[in-house]
Amino acid sequence: MAQLHINLSKLRYNAVMLQHLLTKRGIQMIPVTKGVAGDAKILEVLQSVGFDSVAESRLSLIDHKSDIHYMMIKGASPNEVTDVVDLTSVSIQTERATIQSLNEGAIEKSVIHPILIMVDWKDGREGALAEEVIEMVQDVQQLDGIRLLGLAFNFMCFRPLPPTHEDIERIHQFIMKVEAESGVQFEIISGGNSSMLSLMMTQDLGRINQLRIGETWLRGYETSYNERVPQLYEDAFLLEGRIIEIKPRYDIESNETYMQALVDIGQLDTNVNGLTVVDDHLKIIGSTSDILLVDLGMTDYYQLGDRIIFQMSYNAIAQSMHMPYLTKHYTHDDGIEALIDGFKSTKIKSFSK
Ligand SMILES: *Cc1c(COP(=O)(O)O)cnc(C)c1O
Repeated sequence: MAQLHINLSKLRYNAVMLQHLLTKRGIQMIPVTKGVAGDAKILEVLQSVGFDSVAESRLSLIDHKSDIHYMMIKGASPNEVTDVVDLTSVSIQTERATIQSLNEGAIEKSVIHPILIMVDWKDGREGALAEEVIEMVQDVQQLDGIRLLGLAFNFMCFRPLPPTHEDIERIHQFIMKVEAESGVQFEIISGGNSSMLSLMMTQDLGRINQLRIGETWLRGYETSYNERVPQLYEDAFLLEGRIIEIKPRYDIESNETYMQALVDIGQLDTNVNGLTVVDDHLKIIGSTSDILLVDLGMTDYYQLGDRIIFQMSYNAIAQSMHMPYLTKHYTHDDGIEALIDGFKSTKIKSFSK
């Protein structure tokens, strides 16, 4: 049976290390939980190391009973504004009409809803156009139910254009200009996602004082150049399947025979294109809804019932976490927990919420 192994100690370790790397540069880390489908055990891991805010993209995954603060990172449609006001502590917005409805929703509930305005810098997915930002900021200032905390930026979600040194400088100038012309001083500049980490390691990010981090926390790779972050675990999530058939098959292209194993993982369990076999002698050659076809190559040690372990891309993790019929197996590692405790007790002063 296919099983998703989730190593909670490695997720805790990655969260602590990232929090440390960001905090020492004066940047707040908001863990993005949309890839783990609101998993309660993973949220608990975050809370246990001091995170009291997380970012989500689906209102349906927000746990009403949790005392964690949610940042809503996907714009709402106007009919969702009551839920956004009720369920989230801050949201990222891009449309004036939606902000207007949020304002009415907040006033009705006698609360003030904090927002960040997302600016489309060069990713081309969401965000206010740079030239409309000043006017939007001035508009929002007039709304009694909305508090404008600052601006947000995003990279590498749609266009594969990593943030660069020039972007940081131009973002800085842009912020100064908006502040000067609107008379507003921004508290928070939420400068991006995991794709900002490479740049953060080598240069000052200026006014950026918050990053929303999903992928790098979950799988230990930064996302601009897909490079390992050496301080982090890359295998907190592993997918395990079992061999249910081994037969020689004939390859009609090469006219050669090979040994093929069927593994009980399929397209309904994960994004199979995001799987890599840990044993690199093996190769995935195809998939159907419930089965992976694996070329056993030159190996002669696999038998029926053997486990095959796969590393997972972010999409594969996210899809598997959203799959209710896939068995999830949570593990702890006492050694890693001891490392975390040691690290936290020596570095405790450099942590802040
Ligand atoms: C998904 C998402 C993130 C997190 O991106 P990662 O690459 O997983 O770190 C941050 N901000 C927004 C708006 C997102 O949609």
